[in-house]
Amino acid sequence: MDLTPTPTEQELRDECREWLQRFLPWEYGQGLPPRFDDLAEEVAFGRDWQAKLATGRWVGVAWPVEYGGRGGGPVEHYIVTEELARARAPELVGRIGVNLLGPTVLAHGTAEQRTRFLPKILAAEEIWCQLFSEPEAGSDLASLRTRATRVEGGWLINGQKVWTSYAQFADWGACLARTNLDVKPQIGITYFVVDMRAPGVEVRPLRQITDEREFNEVFFTDVFVPDDRVVGAVDEGWRIANSTLTHERGVNPRQLVIHAQLVDELWKLASESGALDDPRLGPRLAEAFVEIQLFRLHNWRSISRTAKGTEPGPVGSINKLWWSEMSKRLHDTVMDVLAEHAPLWRGADDNPGDGAWQRSWLYYQASSIWAGTNEIQRNVIAERTLGLPR
Ligand SMILES: Cc1cc2nc3c(=O)[nH]c(=O)nc-3n(C[C@H](O)[C@H](O)[C@H](O)COP(=O)(O)OP(=O)(O)OC[C@H]3O[C@@H](n4cnc5c(N)ncnc54)[C@H](O)[C@@H]3O)c2cc1C
Repeated sequence: MDLTPTPTEQELRDECREWLQRFLPWEYGQGLPPRFDDLAEEVAFGRDWQAKLATGRWVGVAWPVEYGGRGGGPVEHYIVTEELARARAPELVGRIGVNLLGPTVLAHGTAEQRTRFLPKILAAEEIWCQLFSEPEAGSDLASLRTRATRVEGGWLINGQKVWTSYAQFADWGACLARTNLDVKPQIGITYFVVDMRAPGVEVRPLRQITDEREFNEVFFTDVFVPDDRVVGAVDEGWRIANSTLTHERGVNPRQLVIHAQLVDELWKLASESGALDDPRLGPRLAEAFVEIQLFRLHNWRSISRTAKGTEPGPVGSINKLWWSEMSKRLHDTVMDVLAEHAPLWRGADDNPGDGAWQRSWLYYQASSIWAGTNEIQRNVIAERTLGLPR
């Protein structure tokens, strides 16, 4: 494929860069986000930043203009994401809505749902969470037990979800619930939009290995959801859920951005500490650099497919498998470069990054679990890409 940008693509890149140079909350390409005392403070900062970004139409670049997007395609989305990375811009606080649930509503929602929800997702006026996993239904999502029962004007939801990222800040959640017990598991599921502030919704944060509380348990007791908050048809939520999962695993400029920044920072750290000249570490630093280039090319390959109107499909599983395994190798290299500083945490004297690297190492241990475990991705690749028997 030809990777040379067209004049219009180059213009978009320049315009985005100029905007970021003017409006970034810190020096272009240099700044690191401020250290926040807690997640709530970080989310408040993130909401302000995303709202500003949305005024420039730099969020939802591939979304239609009528919902606050830019009307571009996957290539334009990718270019803007790269520019955000180059600028070291903060991550989108509403990324679950922007990257997963918004595109699902866009593809499968009603006109009323699109108008009601999409513009507020882009401006981070409303944050979303993904209410799929349950204590007994993770990889085997179709075995979920949360029930929705028919009542006048809508549904009553009862059950429990788990590992729900950002549920404590979310205004809306995309929830899978069983609506029919008389059919095979995949058929009797419906995709609901749940008001996270409705009576009967209880959110309990879970403490993670990083000592943060980003994900949660969510309990539903007779939570009323009106009929017009069903996405797609009743009992056909499995198909809609797969659309969300395809977005989660498919083209992933966000992870590319994060890891390209990490590789840059790693090289800086290595040159400051002398690790670049260490014959044991040099090849691994080179490997980190090569791996990120391969990931970039793989993303381009997926973009080229989506730009032609083909969903990433099972190829998205290769993408997810690659970046999560790459991430673990990269973080192990970071720890070896940090050497005797590796076991230190925030506040320790003479600790490069003041614990940020250590936090990142711990956080990305989970990358082989979220968005579908790597074992499941291998199964998908084996069966649906290579055509091996089940
Ligand atoms: C940081 C993080 C954030 C998350 N955020 C969300 C969120 O916002 N919303 C949400 O709904 N979920 C979220 N999840 C949950 C995530 O989707 C699940 O953890 C994941 O799908 C795995 O399910 P499980 O934890 O129940 O593990 P299980 O499905 O119980 O798997 C346990 C082990 O068995 C293996 N295994 C299971 N089945 C097979 C098989 N058929 N073949 C081979 N091996 C198999 C798995 O690979 C794994 O190693 C998050 C998870 C993490 C770690």
